[in-house]
Order: sequence, then structure tokens, then C-alpha cells
Amino acid sequence: MLMQPCDSLWRASAPTAPELPMLDQELTVDVAIVGGGFTGLSAALHLAKLGISVALVEAEEIGFGGSGRNVGLANAGLWLEPDELDRQLGAEAGRTLYDALAVAPSYVYGLIEEYGIECEATRHGTLHCGVGKSGLTQLQRRCEQMQRRGAPVELLSAAEAQERIGSEKFNAALFDPRAGTIQPLAYARGLARAALKEGAQLFDHSPVENIVPEGDLWSVKTAQGHLKAERVILATNAYGEYGMKDQARKFVPIFYSQLATKPLSDQQLSKVLPNKEGCWDTCTVMSSFRMDQQGRLVFGGMGGESHYHASWASQRVKELWPILNKVEWEFAWTGKIAYSEDHLPHCQQLQRGLFSIAGYSGRGIGPGTVVGKELAEWFAGQRDSLSVPMTTLRDIPLREVKRMFYEVGAHGYHYGQSAHVLK
Ligand SMILES: Cc1cc2nc3c(=O)[nH]c(=O)nc-3n(C[C@H](O)[C@H](O)[C@H](O)COP(=O)(O)OP(=O)(O)OC[C@H]3O[C@@H](n4cnc5c(N)ncnc54)[C@H](O)[C@@H]3O)c2cc1C
Repeated sequence: MLMQPCDSLWRASAPTAPELPMLDQELTVDVAIVGGGFTGLSAALHLAKLGISVALVEAEEIGFGGSGRNVGLANAGLWLEPDELDRQLGAEAGRTLYDALAVAPSYVYGLIEEYGIECEATRHGTLHCGVGKSGLTQLQRRCEQMQRRGAPVELLSAAEAQERIGSEKFNAALFDPRAGTIQPLAYARGLARAALKEGAQLFDHSPVENIVPEGDLWSVKTAQGHLKAERVILATNAYGEYGMKDQARKFVPIFYSQLATKPLSDQQLSKVLPNKEGCWDTCTVMSSFRMDQQGRLVFGGMGGESHYHASWASQRVKELWPILNKVEWEFAWTGKIAYSEDHLPHCQQLQRGLFSIAGYSGRGIGPGTVVGKELAEWFAGQRDSLSVPMTTLRDIPLREVKRMFYEVGAHGYHYGQSAHVLK
């Protein structure tokens, strides 16, 4: 093991990972993929399904990165408001991306059903929970923009939101019935099994150290083996390590930490998120909350894992749900989000045949799955382009300073919430 896997609820409760070999040979395939998260796995699955030979190498284990650590909200769309998407990309490209991601949850739940993936999949919708006047205004704006594009979203009143969430602290909630929750690591492992079933070759504990041209092909080198391929997909997002560090420099890594309680009592379960929607709030420094299948509350917030994070979470949970006045945390873990400057995922063609996809900015379950599928279809000549923008990204200037700014800002904000200076 090269890096320590995190001690997360998802690792404790996921079905076992498929046993994979290390890459210790030379292999020639049509497409080589670096990174075993949703993007790489979905690309591998769909390429294999289309009869294109593919091998994927993962540095650690399947789902080691964001895919095995996230909140598990399978959302439609991106963080950006739809009008902002149009403003940044232009109306046509904005609409193309919006439409592709509006159906992303259906695609994810469809794959789960098709391949019988056991990943605690529930589709009870998500609630974007309003805090304060600006939160309400934001939800009204989002609702109008989404409804204008035909989305079946509904803005719940304070009373309706409070009933669904079981907390009096929210003044509205935007309900999206298209979305739901999954156990993310279980989904990643299930995608890996599905890709193997379709004929993809997967290798773990095989960090890529170098990628060099060799004649018309790329040579993707690990310590003990190498893949030769005409096309290579770098799908390392925020976790680009070893030979992938150049890619990681194009995004700001933002830490997001989660805690999971012991299973709640029946009485608590009847009051806290009784319908089990996945939730996040409109606060400047966002928090998220959801239930797992065993009845644990999974509560998260921006910032790295620390003793202070746990004490902030305990206090915040108690304020939101007084019935949870003495929560016991059973699991705590952290993940890294690849935050792009424009909050959009980007596909880059770094050189002929060498592609990188990253920058999901915290929305990668649906987008990663869809982008992996689109890449496969594009390589197979079934589509002319991808729905995500093709861009050449530069290294982010002052990246470490920006990372520190977000980290310190998150802790300061949580301190303000704990001291009741902020909502
Ligand atoms: C805490 C957190 C919460 C989130 N919550 C949500 C959510 O609720 N909903 C949502 O839609 N999205 C969420 N996201 C975002 C989502 O998890 C990511 O966008 C998504 O997992 C990215 O998938 P990926 O396959 O592109 O990258 P990753 O899953 O990060 O996979 C990259 C892989 O590349 C491997 N790798 C790196 N370097 C090398 C190398 N040199 N050789 C071989 N392999 C290498 C890594 O080990 C890693 O496994 C969240 C993210 C985090 C971190």
C-alpha cells in the first residue's frame, strides 16, 4: 500500500473490491486509462462494451480518490446555476451540457440496475436547503432557471422543508426528484466489476510513473509494467499523484470532511430525514447530510479532518436536530475536491491521443459516469464531441495560497457558526 486508504464508513460498509492484479507485463490495447474512479471506470466499461480493447491502471485501489470518499448525492447538473452555465459556455454549449447532466442520475441508476450493483441506491430525491434570506433568494433563482428548462424541481415552503428535514433551521428547500443517494465506494467497485464483465482489463496498486510517446503509440509506464495504446485517458482528478502531478496543478484541491454517527434509534429515525433525501445547504461554506442504509447520519462540511471539525459537527447537528443532542461519531474521513477556476469539468487534449478529464468541483458521480461514457462513444466514432468543454488549462497561479485560503476560511466560518455569529 503506497498511501493509506481512509477509514471511512464507505470502506467499512462496501461489498468487497474485485481482486485485481498489479500491472507487471507489457500490454498493447486501443485505450489506456489512468485512474480507477467513476470517470476511468465508466470509460473502461463503455469502451469494452463497444468492443474497444482497454486497460485501466489505478495507483492504489479502485475508488481510492474522490469516488470512494464523497457524500454520495447522485445529482442532476453541476454546481453552477444553469444561466451561469450558458453565460460561461454560450447558450448552445451550455444547454448541451445542462441536458446531458440533467439525465445523469437516470443513467447512473440505470447502470446500477443493469449490472446489479449493490450500492445502497435510493432515489428519494435531494433537498437543497435554504439558510437565511440570501439562501432563499438563491433557491428561488435556481428553481426558476431549472423549471424554465423543464426540470421537475419544486421549491418547498419553510413548513414543508422543515417537515422533510426534521429541522426548524431551514426556510425553504429545492426538491429534485431526479436525484438520490448511493454508497459511492460500492458504486465504484460495482462499476469495476461491470467493466471486467464487459472485458476491460483492470490493474490496481500500479501507479503510473511516466507517459512517453513510442512511435505512433503512447507508453504508459508503471514500476513493473507498461501499457501501449493509441489513446490515453488521464482520469486522476484531484488525486493526481506520481506521474500525474502536472494534471493536479490545474485545479485547487479543497478538502471536505465527513463524519458518520452510530445507527440512530427508531425514534430519531422517524424525525431526522424520514424520507431519506440527500441534502446540502446554501451556506457560503456548505454542509451536507444524508442517511446511510443502516440509519447512520452522515454529516459533512468543507475543510480538512480535525478535532475541531468533529466538535463543530457535533454542535451543528445538535442545533439542527435537538433530538440528536449527544451524537457519537463512528467514522470520520476526508476527501479532496478538484476545484476548477470556473467550477466546470474540462476535457483537455494534451497532445494527440492524450486526454485528461478533471475539475468536477464536487459534482462527479453523474458527470464522471456520463463523461466516461461519452469518451467511449467519441473514440468509437459514435459522437462528434463531448458535452463538457474541451479546453487547454494552465497551472493555477498561487494554488497553494488559494488552497490555504479555502481551508482557513472553512475553519473560520465553522468557528463563526459555533459562536452563533453566523447562521
Ligand atoms: C468529500 C467529497 C464529497 C463529494 N461529494 C459529491 C457528491 O455528493 N456528489 C457528486 O456528484 N460528487 C461529489 N464529489 C465529487 C466526486 O467524488 C468526484 O468528482 C469524482 O469522484 C471524480 O471521479 P474521478 O474518477 O474523476 O476521480 P477520482 O475518483 O478521484 O479517481 C482518481 C484516481 O486516480 C488515481 N491516480 C492518481 N494518480 C495516479 C497515477 N499516477 N497512476 C494511477 N492512478 C492514479 C487515484 O488513486 C484515484 O483513485 C465529492 C468529492 C469529495 C472529495
